Amino acid sequence: MGRFILDLHMHTSRYSPCAPLLEPEMLISRLHERGLSGGVITEHDMLWSEDELQELIHSSSEGVEGVRLYRGVEISADHAHILAFGLESLAETPRGCPIQRVIDVAREQGAALIWAHPYLVYRNMLSPEHFPDIRLGIHGLEVSSSMTKGDDSKRAKSLAQERGWHMTGGSDAHAPENVGIAATEFPFLPQDEKALAQAIIAGQCRPKVLSTKSSTPRKKCSS
Ligand SMILES: [Zn+2]
Ligand SMILES: [Zn+2]
Repeated sequence: MGRFILDLHMHTSRYSPCAPLLEPEMLISRLHERGLSGGVITEHDMLWSEDELQELIHSSSEGVEGVRLYRGVEISADHAHILAFGLESLAETPRGCPIQRVIDVAREQGAALIWAHPYLVYRNMLSPEHFPDIRLGIHGLEVSSSMTKGDDSKRAKSLAQERGWHMTGGSDAHAPENVGIAATEFPFLPQDEKALAQAIIAGQCRPKVLSTKSSTPRKKCSS
């Protein structure tokens, strides 16, 4: 395996009200400081436009080379938060829609799906164990993040093996200091979101914990 490390789960103040201090302009320098190759912006139920992303890259990458940003999204399904990579539109996956709908839409669009923070107890969220029939269509399980550590992380790893899901990591950063604390390693740097999705679907990835220091706790999101 190579050494291209991407943080697959980052929020910003632009579209995630629960991340007020993490300005998008900070992402590239934060990822660079951590030695990462890049990261994915995954706001709650909101996909950045390509133009917007390019504008951010131009305005904040001065003096930083080789750090890539990608567009993804964290979909608030009825009983889980699902990270999606390579989706073109969110029109068919409104907030609160069934997990199976997210799977069907992602399959049509060739997008990759990762089940985020599987053991976070919050609102209507249920762990993947509540859905023994959901297996195909989910490609990865977030086994490491600011919200999934210690015993939860161990439990997630064994569940991933059991279901045949690839293990991934992502910070779920809502504050600048958490960017890049957990991430995923790839054997190459994906060219765009579609290539990233294909790499995840193919399992060309493995989780990487970059900081053992305790991360900053955060308030739970409204979404
Ligand atoms: Zn979430
Ligand atoms: Zn999140």
